[in-house]
Amino acid sequence: MEGAGEQVSFEIDDLPVRDELRGKSPYGAPQLDVPVRLNTNENPYPLPEPLVERIAERVREAARNLNRYPDRDAVELRTRLAEYLTDTSGHEVGLANVWAANGSNEVLQQLLQTFGGPGRTAIGFEPSYSMHGLIARGTGTGWISGPRNEDFTIDLAAAEKAIASHRPDVVFVTTPNNPTGTAVPPETVLALYEAAQAAGPSMVVVDEAYIEFSHGDSLLPLIEGRPQLVVSRTMSKAFGAAGLRLGYLAAHPAVVDAVQLVRLPYHLSSVTQATALAALEHTDTLLKYVRQLKDERDRLVAELLETGYEVTASDANFVQFGRFDDAHAMWQKILDRGVLVRDNGVPGWLRVTAGTPEENDAFLDAVRELKKESA
Ligand SMILES: *Cc1c(COP(=O)(O)O)cnc(C)c1O
Repeated sequence: MEGAGEQVSFEIDDLPVRDELRGKSPYGAPQLDVPVRLNTNENPYPLPEPLVERIAERVREAARNLNRYPDRDAVELRTRLAEYLTDTSGHEVGLANVWAANGSNEVLQQLLQTFGGPGRTAIGFEPSYSMHGLIARGTGTGWISGPRNEDFTIDLAAAEKAIASHRPDVVFVTTPNNPTGTAVPPETVLALYEAAQAAGPSMVVVDEAYIEFSHGDSLLPLIEGRPQLVVSRTMSKAFGAAGLRLGYLAAHPAVVDAVQLVRLPYHLSSVTQATALAALEHTDTLLKYVRQLKDERDRLVAELLETGYEVTASDANFVQFGRFDDAHAMWQKILDRGVLVRDNGVPGWLRVTAGTPEENDAFLDAVRELKKESA
């Protein structure tokens, strides 16, 4: 450390940080500068130029009003998001069903601030999205790690048992699941919802960050008549707008009212709202690459299998592959060949995001070489 603190060694644990944060690590997908980055499930294609122009236009308009606070309730944006959800799911939702925030991570944080918190618990079925547990901890919510089967599907009987015995306040179901790619059938989600209501009542949060890449349909229609079911979505993955930071949820209007108790006033900046509105004018072009990425995902699965690796069936824009005695060593060897994949800490497995055909070729070449070397 430079400067005033030079003589005194003072570290995070010397500060009076909350007990549950002591000795923990922050979310940390490495942001390394390598030629091929297939580690954070981003869409590899930059936004199309006409959309870039439209964003500039809308942001310019917004800039003229930056002396004012933004629309606190993001009414226009939520209306457009509701239209997008209605058009793509065939299930009609309106402004009152939709809430938006800075990435679905903030949506999830608001849900845990509202329905979790000290003295309460949340459960997820792991391995799954590590942020669910991290946001739980950040909001003082106790975290319960629920089980999965060997093939990474949810073990329904065990999950129902865990819900009945722990009586969690929030149940997370990620479908398609990250990092495994596993889709959760609607019957399973309904059974978990029933179990949660019998034990609870508790909120069931269905995290659909990757739903646009799935072979199956969104579970959005399930919110009908189920006021404790929330579907969370994001523009970070299929929309190719991870840098925008825009996530949203669809649920009963009472849920939308409830999260407003904890949201910070004016949480969604005018610039973010303007950018997201521009993007929603171009959903057709934005989603144009989804079909191509799904094909590339299927190609990764096929060629990994052909090369002799194991893969987990994927409904997302990434593939979990293995198995390795030392997954981290394998991660390093792939990195040494200029390709960054993800070690999510699932013993024996790594995860690769579907990139452009050229990026995927570079990845496949690397793992083919490594297979030959190890043979
Ligand atoms: C990437 C991801 C998100 C998205 O988070 P944002 O904050 O919207 O970028 C949410 N849930 C899961 C499971 C994810 O993998």
